[in-house]
Amino acid sequence: MDPTHTVVIVGAGQAGATLAGLLRQQKFTGRVVLCGAESVPPYHRPPLSKKYDGEDYVQWLRPESFYADNDIELRLADPVVRIDRAARTASTRSGLDLAYDTLVLATGADPRALPIPGADLSGVMALRTLDDAARLRTAVLAGARLAIVGAGYVGLEVAAAARARGREVTVIEREDRILARVASPELSRILTDGHRARGTRILTGAAVEELLGDDGRVRGVRLADGRDIDCDTVIVGIGAVPQDGLARAAGLECVAGIVVDGAARTSDPHILAIGDVTHRLHDRLGALVRLESIPSATEQAAQAAAVITGAPIPPHEVPWFWSDQFDLKMKMAGVLTPGTEAVLRGDPGGGSCSLFHLDADGVPRTVETINAAADFMAGRKFVGNRTPLNRAALADIGTPLREVARSPAHTRRI
Ligand SMILES: Cc1cc2nc3c(=O)[nH]c(=O)nc-3n(C[C@H](O)[C@H](O)[C@H](O)COP(=O)(O)OP(=O)(O)OC[C@H]3O[C@@H](n4cnc5c(N)ncnc54)[C@H](O)[C@@H]3O)c2cc1C
Repeated sequence: MDPTHTVVIVGAGQAGATLAGLLRQQKFTGRVVLCGAESVPPYHRPPLSKKYDGEDYVQWLRPESFYADNDIELRLADPVVRIDRAARTASTRSGLDLAYDTLVLATGADPRALPIPGADLSGVMALRTLDDAARLRTAVLAGARLAIVGAGYVGLEVAAAARARGREVTVIEREDRILARVASPELSRILTDGHRARGTRILTGAAVEELLGDDGRVRGVRLADGRDIDCDTVIVGIGAVPQDGLARAAGLECVAGIVVDGAARTSDPHILAIGDVTHRLHDRLGALVRLESIPSATEQAAQAAAVITGAPIPPHEVPWFWSDQFDLKMKMAGVLTPGTEAVLRGDPGGGSCSLFHLDADGVPRTVETINAAADFMAGRKFVGNRTPLNRAALADIGTPLREVARSPAHTRRI
């Protein structure tokens, strides 16, 4: 490896920090600069919506000494504001021009703004950063009555954590079911029941028209049908927008995120992009997809490390994701595919079950599990290996999954 090669990573989040660590682990001897916009070292985002005991939501990705010990130049609170592709430099807000041989864009995504009157009232917040989490925690612990706009995973996790502390929580969703974009209708139903049984108020098919305030502070949500929901804190969880502004300004190909191939390469041979900011080509799906997850970010970090060090590109994993709500530990693998049939294994009322979504040949395209770690492990393998399954055996909890896999898939649908 060339010791004079300089890698500049823009974005000190999950993907960027993982890449910096991998480069050193793989004996990359060049210069590594990790530039962050935030003022704190890289941290885990999943606890921000899940952990509410003391300071347990603050989880650093690496110990403080890791960066200096591994000769990684961590530059915090100094975002990159411009890229000059011809000169191969990245300029920071403080006026530093960083020359690079390889530039890696790992700028993540920002919460989508709610474009309605009242969105700027005090007490209205989104959840992406440690600072956001600290503010939300203060409100929840002080007894906030929450309205959560958007029933995605982050919003539902906050709802669960706040309900577990006895807070009044209303989740307001425009679609006709929760998690409409990311979960099957069957999982949406099970989770809706789980939340309602624990006291979360869930309103679906409900459009938010305006946030109501008194003296600059939010006091309610007005719905399009005229109903008002009283609250003193509003969490806006309506998705995230890829931070591809730098890439667009530099003329890189972007379509709702930076377009990359299966090895994190952009349309410029000296620039890679990884994590939530990308619109990535996924071998297993044969399509461009935007995945917002830790497994996807770390997988692309490994691809970028391989490109930089000249190692073979690791094969693509089956995409997967997890979410914790109350005592429900969910894990999902694969992506939802139209035209599949859901097979339920286990008892949702008993607290543990799985949904296998089979195509016409009995091959699972997606598996969604609740408190069923073994089903998830097996299901993910079945999805990856395209193993046909027997529907009846799958639905019978008494039949071990290894036998389900062996059973002939003679139940082809007509
Ligand atoms: C509350 C919450 C809970 C989540 N829970 C889960 C979960 O349970 N499971 C799961 O798989 N995923 C979860 N996710 C998603 C997961 O955290 C993201 O997919 C992951 O963090 C993406 O990594 P990233 O490095 O692409 O982006 P990020 O981790 O967001 O990092 C991007 C960084 O780049 C910085 N940046 C942006 N622009 C610039 C610039 N110009 N210069 C320098 N720095 C810049 C940003 O400030 C940010 O720090 C959760 C996300 C949130 C917000």
